[in-house]
Amino acid sequence: MTELQHTPIGDLPAIYETLQSTFRKGISRPLAWRRHQLHQLARMAQENKDKFVAAIYADFRKPEMEIQIGEVGPIVERSIKSAELLEEWAKPEAVDVKAAWQQSWGSTLYKTPKGVVLIIAPWNYPMILSLQPLIGAIAAGCTAVVKPSELSPHYSQTLAELLPKYLDTSAFRVVNGGVEETTALLEMKWDHIFYTGNGRVARIIAAAAAKHLTPLTLELGGKCPVVLDANTDLRIAAKRIFWGKCTNAGQICVCPDYVLVPRSVQDAFVEALSEVYKEFYPEGALNSESLSRIVNQMHYDRLQDLLARTKGEIVLGGKSDGHRGIEPTVFKNVQEDDSLLEGEIFGPFLPLVPVDSLEEAIDFINARPHPLVLYAFTEDPKFKQALIDQTRSGNIIFNDTFQQLAVNELPFSGMGESGYGYQIMNYSFDGFIHLRSSVHVPLEAEPFFAGRYPPYTAENVNLLAGPAVNMEIPPSAGVNGNA
Ligand code: NAD
Repeated sequence: MTELQHTPIGDLPAIYETLQSTFRKGISRPLAWRRHQLHQLARMAQENKDKFVAAIYADFRKPEMEIQIGEVGPIVERSIKSAELLEEWAKPEAVDVKAAWQQSWGSTLYKTPKGVVLIIAPWNYPMILSLQPLIGAIAAGCTAVVKPSELSPHYSQTLAELLPKYLDTSAFRVVNGGVEETTALLEMKWDHIFYTGNGRVARIIAAAAAKHLTPLTLELGGKCPVVLDANTDLRIAAKRIFWGKCTNAGQICVCPDYVLVPRSVQDAFVEALSEVYKEFYPEGALNSESLSRIVNQMHYDRLQDLLARTKGEIVLGGKSDGHRGIEPTVFKNVQEDDSLLEGEIFGPFLPLVPVDSLEEAIDFINARPHPLVLYAFTEDPKFKQALIDQTRSGNIIFNDTFQQLAVNELPFSGMGESGYGYQIMNYSFDGFIHLRSSVHVPLEAEPFFAGRYPPYTAENVNLLAGPAVNMEIPPSAGVNGNA
């Protein structure tokens, strides 16, 4: 493991003061400056692609394909596109006011940067998860500290070396370290904290933020279920689900965690998975350069413990190499109280939980915390609608895994235990701005206000409040009863 140079805790107040002063001076406000910083971020990712690929590979042997598609590519593309769209996002919005007597007030929404923000990122997609929020912060006109994970030390060290060569260091800084450094950062008053990681630490972050009433975005994890329709194309479903499970060796928040499979097709689905398995890893998964390793010994041991305790029947895989390599492993007939269903697996295990109906699958999902993503494989509109109407989750995705993350126009977000707040492109921008409402009431409007001033009279109450209080309530069509 590379030696990660922790930022001295004694340096943090000066870093914080620098960012505060830059923000107060308005340096981060002009759109041309923001656009330049976004282009510089794209340049950093593009010009140092090989260094980032090598660093993340060194952290946990993540394949180059997954780094380029899931990390470097989106950072380059989204920085450039955000710069392109910035003017549209940031321009003050004239609000379409309906009431005739308010139309001269110039009602406007200003997209005000929140200020000095803190971004705390995890190790599993270290680049996209530390820099995607930064794109939003830059676009919004904020200054920011980025705190990458100490568990991806090669990446975090590389970022700390490269970022100051490209971005304005009076506005954007990398702070490296672990719990101690993050705790020191959390004592400071930030204008927004964007945290990506697990729910346990999220509670520590939220408690620290509460002391300063700091708003938060929490991008968390949990178990993302897959619901399978017995009539779906099992072969395509197997390929798409298994790809989702094997990417980053299952160490991703949107990984399909377990499959609720109709009991009648469980064996046929296993058969389909087994064909896909051979296609993906003809040389054996543990010999493959297309499979990441588990990030560290602690997580490797955690997964070994799940493996030792599960009562599910292993139908594919099952081997580990003692060097943080674990074969993608499929288990069938997994029961509700199984070790594999306790918490987020965050590894290459795919439990199949047999169910007898869609209703049973829905009850299973609703008995657990709201997932980040609910996946379903079906071509049946009724099956689809039942899931949309009767379950809750951050995202609901049909007939594929992961691909929602590639759609620049869709927000990404958790719900409940999987977090709150939105990101990607304009949604990241929105998280770092405050919608500052404004009216500019003309002096000439004074005669209209005559009745609002004391002394209050019954006549004026009637005149001013009457139209709202006595407004006619339309009849509700198609609803029975009083409630
Ligand atoms: P991690 O261990 O790298 O921790 C994340 C960050 O929290 C790090 O920067 C770390 O320094 C900091 N941290 C750790 N302990 C802390 C403490 N006691 N006080 C303050 N800061 C602390 O990563 P992780 O949490 O293991 O990440 C994996 C989790 O993140 C999974 O649950 C996954 O589902 C979730 N995740 C969510 C998303 C999303 O977008 N919703 C994306 C990726 C990962």
